[in-house]
Amino acid sequence: MFAKVMSLKLRSTAIILLVATLTLTMLKDAQAQKKQPKSKKPAVSDARPVMPEISYTVSMSKPWTHLLEVEMRLKWDQMPDQAELKMPVWTPGSYLIREYARHVQDFSVKNATGAELGWRKINKNTWQVDTKGGKEIVASYRVYSNELTVRTNELNDEHGFWNNAATLMFVKGQLAAPSTVTVNPYSNWKIATGLPKADGTANTFKAENFDILYDSPFEVSNFTEVPFVVEGKPHRLIFSGEGNYDGKKTAADVTKIVEEAYKIFGELPYDNYTFIVNLRGGGGLEHLNSTALQFNRFGFKPKERYERFLGLVAHEYFHCFNVKRIRPDALGPFDYENENYTKLLWVAEGGTEYFSNILLRRAGLITAKEYLSSKAESIQQLQATPGRFETSLEDASFDAWIKYYRQDENSVNNQISYYDKGEIVNMMLDITIRSDSAGARSLDDVLKYLYTDYYKKGKNYTPEDFQKACETMAGKGLDDFFSKYVRGTAEIDYDGIVNGIGLTLKATQPNAKKAYLGANLTEDNGRLTIRSIPAATPAYEQGLNTGDQIVAIDGYRASQSFLSSYLAELKPGDKVKLTIFRFDKLRDFDFTLGANTRAEYKFEPLAIPTDEQKRLYNAYLNADL
Ligand SMILES: [Zn+2]
Repeated sequence: MFAKVMSLKLRSTAIILLVATLTLTMLKDAQAQKKQPKSKKPAVSDARPVMPEISYTVSMSKPWTHLLEVEMRLKWDQMPDQAELKMPVWTPGSYLIREYARHVQDFSVKNATGAELGWRKINKNTWQVDTKGGKEIVASYRVYSNELTVRTNELNDEHGFWNNAATLMFVKGQLAAPSTVTVNPYSNWKIATGLPKADGTANTFKAENFDILYDSPFEVSNFTEVPFVVEGKPHRLIFSGEGNYDGKKTAADVTKIVEEAYKIFGELPYDNYTFIVNLRGGGGLEHLNSTALQFNRFGFKPKERYERFLGLVAHEYFHCFNVKRIRPDALGPFDYENENYTKLLWVAEGGTEYFSNILLRRAGLITAKEYLSSKAESIQQLQATPGRFETSLEDASFDAWIKYYRQDENSVNNQISYYDKGEIVNMMLDITIRSDSAGARSLDDVLKYLYTDYYKKGKNYTPEDFQKACETMAGKGLDDFFSKYVRGTAEIDYDGIVNGIGLTLKATQPNAKKAYLGANLTEDNGRLTIRSIPAATPAYEQGLNTGDQIVAIDGYRASQSFLSSYLAELKPGDKVKLTIFRFDKLRDFDFTLGANTRAEYKFEPLAIPTDEQKRLYNAYLNADL
């Protein structure tokens, strides 16, 4: 996943399922699957359970009403007297309970002969149906779809985009069942999805289980399709909407990204791959053989903005290895009704973000200098986040469900992003492994190992497995590194690590002599308001609050631009009178200005690097130090 939330970068994640051979007794529901130890043999019952046959039809007869029309047909020899149909509450890759059931309306259900059946809701996302001994039921409902994000649905007179987890109900305990989806497009719209077509059909697609079904978004519109082939496998870019993109050039650049990922793993683990690009908003969500992306329609120029698009593509694409197949402990098979907790999002997301930039560099799409300056910027952002002393990477990963997607004004002071710090710590880990192994191994080898020894063997990995894999590649213990930077909140010894490849991280304080308030401000309709206050700043220490409206400084009306020019004439230690509205009450503050000690960072070569350092740098960035 990749999106922007407030000042922090946001992205996400999801998975595949390898349970086709397990018997249904083991598959009461996704929760039960997780609790079942993998080594334990399933209980054998006398009557072999038979999976239900589930087929959906999704129609859009009046797209301007934003209502997707869903019909769900369920045939089942073992139909219970009361069948339970459930909407997921979240979708993998975006770790927030989203309550998709709230968009369901007009639910009704019939038996095979068309007679209405009774039903009731028994909790927020479950419809209980009286089947009256029938072996087949047909449920119909509509889903209000008017929010274009990569994890929600949008239907309007230009297109339909939907996630199946936000659209299609599942049968309680039957997530291992196969299903089909028939799409009735509006007008002459075309259909794009990563799901394969059912044999001999035009608009029907099949999913072997619900982790596959829910992993496969649909785009239905008059999109532009740009096909290309990498390592013999068909790929395609689907552009929905108009914009200043160059399809041919983008396909050529994306080809290079895919090839670099191929070089790490030695194979492409899918039959075909679809990049769905909606040309509005921003963000991305990863899937097994597709990704949903959103990007500004005129954001493909100039070069710097286009590179951001390629970075987004590389991030979501790399997820098809890291998280969709190399799976953290709790991320698959999924429980669609509850939070799925893991301490490993810093690897799944932070590691993916790290590798997205590595892929761009290896593909020659950015220079070594651009690469290093973007890393220095990430470090700068982390070092300006007081929350780095409050929350570790593992804790930030675990609490994603209640914190990362619900940021507030205090987030800067009590949180870090598992994307941003995760990316930096993955970089430090990579360089550590390279230095410790004298260049023989790298983080590539860790992922390759997890791919081969975990994904290929049907296993997820734990935090301990990950650390062990890193130690194996480094050829030494890394407990100090992991306890300080992954499980703990110690300040990172950047220099001590990057010296290994002949670099030093230089910090300067260019604004240390300038007067400083320390509050982050926002101006709206002439109102200058405090948006957030980082800890240890003058504003924090002297009692300004988020939400305060700054009316005047020393009796002059305050605006963003006036404040900047006024403060530019003052120096640290000077006193000013701030007049503010707090809760609609006018108040005066005698305020002592501080100094802006926020550091800026830059990577520079060591003055006299050794041959070994030069060699490792060259191997890392394919450039001379
Ligand atoms: Zn992501």
